Amino acid sequence: MLNRPLTLILGFFLILLLVWWQRPEPSTEVARTALIMGTLVEIKVVGTDVKNIERAISAAFAVMRDEEQRFSPEIETSQISAINKATGPVAVDAQVVEVLHLGLKVARESHGAFNMGLGGLVKLWNFQALHPQAPTEEQIRALIPVSPENQLEIKGMQVKRLDPRVQLDLGGIAKGYAVDRALEVLRAAGLVSASINAGGDIGLLGGHGERPWKIGIQHPRKAGELLATIELRERAIVTSGDYERFFMQDGVRYHHIFDPQTGMPARGCQSVTVIAATVGEADALATATFVLGPQAGLAFLEKYPDVEGLIVAADGHAVMTSGLKDRLKWR
Ligand code: AMP
Ligand code: MG
Repeated sequence: MLNRPLTLILGFFLILLLVWWQRPEPSTEVARTALIMGTLVEIKVVGTDVKNIERAISAAFAVMRDEEQRFSPEIETSQISAINKATGPVAVDAQVVEVLHLGLKVARESHGAFNMGLGGLVKLWNFQALHPQAPTEEQIRALIPVSPENQLEIKGMQVKRLDPRVQLDLGGIAKGYAVDRALEVLRAAGLVSASINAGGDIGLLGGHGERPWKIGIQHPRKAGELLATIELRERAIVTSGDYERFFMQDGVRYHHIFDPQTGMPARGCQSVTVIAATVGEADALATATFVLGPQAGLAFLEKYPDVEGLIVAADGHAVMTSGLKDRLKWR
């Protein structure tokens, strides 16, 4: 039999051991970047199991690369290229069907401001060129896109172009969708605090540890400076801007978001930021709103109960949806 003081001492050490055993692991933040879909993608995760986090981040990047292979019209073997080349129906997978349906919904609701069939215009304007130049009016007129309801026939998993002039370009929606898919990978790995920023397409998992994520909104005319910040949890926030891909010619800014009616860069806005439940939806809505311009664009966004938006008009003045009024911190 142990004597009483010895039992007490042993008991004390046992409790100490248990407390040590049960102590929470310290939280760390892991951040990694990769170049995917022509943009720098940054993933940040807060958690305790660094090995699991690293593995999950690698898997998330892999999923985004996979989406690039699926959606890029510049990749010969992509499903979008297959649709663009075929005259008849093409078998596609569930992701392509999902994104096309979402894009066509936004196209309908924006009365054609969002248009995924303007691949011909994107090639003509060629913002990737070393010295891009504005095309002639005649060249542009020949490539004015077909209206969204006359572009595609989707039957189950088969997609057919209804018009040989339709060239799909999902640049206004695919990046956001890819971020959603990458977030799913992080969630499935048991992570609860993460952010993915793909060049202004941002998806958030939970908060930044205990606190909300503090997201900066880029100033459309001051590179590297913020216009405002906002605190968010578990949301998507996407910005479309005329400063992302553009060139100047004779003092005029030509940028990559086109008004499908004119084939010219849309002139109403400098930038549009949309907050929504998914990054894919926010991405498409931001592009659509940019084309609609500040007035019609604001009315368009107000129709979605779960969506907020900030629009910087061409003259630099900002308007926003009613639900955003007290939530932005101006810089
Ligand atoms: P974002 O940066 O998300 O606004 O998308 C711009 C990209 O979407 C462009 O580079 C084009 O690939 C494509 N795009 C341009 N104009 C439109 C439009 N009116 N509707 C849908 N996609 C567009
Ligand atoms: Mg977009």
